[in-house]
Amino acid sequence: MPRITTSLFELFKVGPGPSSSHTIGPMKAGHHFMETVRKLDTALLEQADVIDIHLFGSLSATGEGHGTRRAVISGLLGHQPETCPPDVLDSLDLDPTQIYQLDIGPKTIDFKAEEVVFDAVHHDFPFSNTLLFRLGKGGAPLYEQEYYSIGGGFLRWKGWKEPEVGEPRFKYKDMAELKKHLVMHDIRLHELILENEMAITGLSENEINQRLDNIIMVMERSVEKGIQTEGRLPGPIGLYRKAPTLYAKAKKAHFQGPGFLKALNAYAMAASEENASGHCIATAPTAGAAGVIPGLLFMLKRHMGALTDEIRQGLMAAAAIGFLAKNNASISGAEVGCQGEVGVASAMGAAMIAYARGYRFQITENSAEIALEHHLGLTCDPVGGYVQIPCIERNAMGAVKAYNAYLIASSVEAAYHMVDLDKVIRAMAETGRDMSQKYKETSLGGLAVSVIEC
Ligand code: SF4
Repeated sequence: MPRITTSLFELFKVGPGPSSSHTIGPMKAGHHFMETVRKLDTALLEQADVIDIHLFGSLSATGEGHGTRRAVISGLLGHQPETCPPDVLDSLDLDPTQIYQLDIGPKTIDFKAEEVVFDAVHHDFPFSNTLLFRLGKGGAPLYEQEYYSIGGGFLRWKGWKEPEVGEPRFKYKDMAELKKHLVMHDIRLHELILENEMAITGLSENEINQRLDNIIMVMERSVEKGIQTEGRLPGPIGLYRKAPTLYAKAKKAHFQGPGFLKALNAYAMAASEENASGHCIATAPTAGAAGVIPGLLFMLKRHMGALTDEIRQGLMAAAAIGFLAKNNASISGAEVGCQGEVGVASAMGAAMIAYARGYRFQITENSAEIALEHHLGLTCDPVGGYVQIPCIERNAMGAVKAYNAYLIASSVEAAYHMVDLDKVIRAMAETGRDMSQKYKETSLGGLAVSVIEC
């Protein structure tokens, strides 16, 4: 099994919601395709008169509700997730008569939204979420590229090669190996993650801290905006935002007793409601699960007195859990169901609180393990293909479970704990493999069929 070389900033990324695999990945694909096309031979480009895109797998099943069409068009128009305006998806007009001019170098091509086609849900491509981009003349393709949105906003394409990255200073593939390094080198978890990040990316400690601070700022901003924004979310469900009401009730209770939990629910739902609106969020580890860690982080800062440095260190501990889940199972709802999204976010969040509160490694691992264990088997069944029901409340539940997992792990003897994180990640991978495709972000089973979309 290969050693882990994932960067912190592949896991924590800024981009538009509502789904990292359905918006961030496809936006990157659109941008990458245009960049590639502009480098093609001018004579070939002169002949071209059409660009079309076919979406497969869950991108087809839930792509309309997940905003994939808008994300692809934004990418074709030159936007990238990290730098696009916060409301870029809102601002796109999907009027079928609207014509966009796509600049391919020597000429422009007229493009309409209907040229993003929702194709087969079941297919033979190597990854579930596949996009086929074509530049053509009439019905004949001149150039085409397959892209795979593999979850968490990660993008691959046919012929993609692992980019050259630096060798991590501490090589590990699972928690057992990670633990050995911590003991053998007498190093703390966040120090190990930081050393590896510097070695992999070539960034300095200062640059890494600046980037982490930007992620923290985006997370806090999504919570702040969400607790202040009333009304209904976009889409046919007409779901009301709940975060402002919960926040008002928590405030009335001075954030004490049930007020504490109401606040945690409000913060997680606030970021999640912002995500459902297609606004900018930070993936943690995905956009669908973008409420759990921001909710807990906001709680840590506002009500538990955590300092910036403790939050940074907590995020690095959370990332260690995310790396292990991504590399030994999956963080994609389309691959393993929601256990890989909200389940992993909850495990990461539990690790973050334990670590930021000053607990050492074993309590941090146990917190993460308990949170993930109690998400095993969780399906992905978004109603109408919108990242709203069950996703928003599920983020709140993921945050509360993370807090509870931390309370259990930090209250009892670590030696009493029987299950290690590697085992629960393995169980998640196997459960995901056995899970019917209906429950993997296709909206063909579970709540998506038992709740009638309004
Ligand atoms: S059910 Fe979970 S995995 Fe599926 S879209 Fe919602 S948050 Fe993502």
